[in-house]
Amino acid sequence: KNQNNNADMPDWSAYRGVMVFIEQRGGQAKKVGWQLLGQGRKLADKLEVELIALVIGYGVEHLAEEAIYYGADRVILADAKELKDYRTRPYSRVALKVIEEVKPEIVLFGATGTGRDLAGAIATHLPTGLTADCTQLDVEPHPSRLLLASRPAFSEKMMATILCKQYRPQMATARAGVFEALPRDISRKGEIVQVENVLKEEEIAARVLEFIEANNKLNIEDAEIIVEGGWGVGGPEGFKPLQELADALGGMVGASRAAVDAGWISHDHQVGQTGHTVRPKLYFAIGISGAVQHTVGMQNSDVIVAINSDPNAPIFKFAHYGIVGDLFKIVPAITQAVKNK
Ligand code: FAD
Repeated sequence: KNQNNNADMPDWSAYRGVMVFIEQRGGQAKKVGWQLLGQGRKLADKLEVELIALVIGYGVEHLAEEAIYYGADRVILADAKELKDYRTRPYSRVALKVIEEVKPEIVLFGATGTGRDLAGAIATHLPTGLTADCTQLDVEPHPSRLLLASRPAFSEKMMATILCKQYRPQMATARAGVFEALPRDISRKGEIVQVENVLKEEEIAARVLEFIEANNKLNIEDAEIIVEGGWGVGGPEGFKPLQELADALGGMVGASRAAVDAGWISHDHQVGQTGHTVRPKLYFAIGISGAVQHTVGMQNSDVIVAINSDPNAPIFKFAHYGIVGDLFKIVPAITQAVKNK
């Protein structure tokens, strides 16, 4: 699909606009939707087209408003009882109808479980490709208007930029935490378009009878505060003082790959190139040296506090605040100070 020259490109002028899928659960949006609107705004401005948000669910009108506050010019809202919980078939059928009608030139999804599932299901019904798990998104201006979707390749040793020259829309999933949301601005104005009679009975296929939330469900990408431990915590027990600090601050515990690979904590806690990309308001790196594969996953955090016994640890280059010393003395002292407040 991607080997032809620009000269061979078909006329895609009917396809205009950048569309972002706003993922939600129980009426609560995942941050990645707002982050993709932030990046989508840049792409749409460069292409001089509108930024369109796609909101699917039940009782989610408020998210259509929010999408405008986060930068969308227009929101396509599919709000129906049958769309309350995510299921591949109904959501992909609705999204397909919207894409076929609106004809955006670019469609972006968060690279979450739901986003990956939905984007893949849509792509199988369209004669187009899908670039998965992007960490950079840019566009070539008119006339090529190509989406430059980049992602790590070859065991994360190099970046590959993947183009979809022959088909529209150009579709990509992108990692949470990589792009920055625009500041929420309630003075922003936009249009909300409701999609009526979205589904036929035979398109529903399966119904959700009950939703059972996994007890240990962790959503570290949406955490505002992350207290993260590495090899320096010395073992599974070493995460206890970090958990206490996280509890005192209302945050979550993260981990470096060294700690995860050692089996001290599960992979869903891992931050970094092969883990999650996070950008919380406050991030503690505790007993973590600051390898590049780790820092790519956390360097965009608003405030970074590093605690390390080695004053030369590379993590201090990324930290706004650095504390040199033994984490087993420093972390309980911070926890106590937070509790005393
Ligand atoms: P170390 O580098 O061993 O650092 C431990 C730190 O703890 C040291 O700086 C030490 O001074 C400090 N310390 C020790 N005791 C104490 C104490 N009592 N008090 C205070 N400080 C103390 N890594 C990731 O984290 N995430 C990834 O997603 C990831 N993906 C990777 C992908 C690839 C392809 C590769 C090749 C590597 C990847 N890595 C990843 C691994 C990465 O290169 C590092 O090996 C890893 O991040 C190191 O983890 P660490 O900082 O916890 O351990």
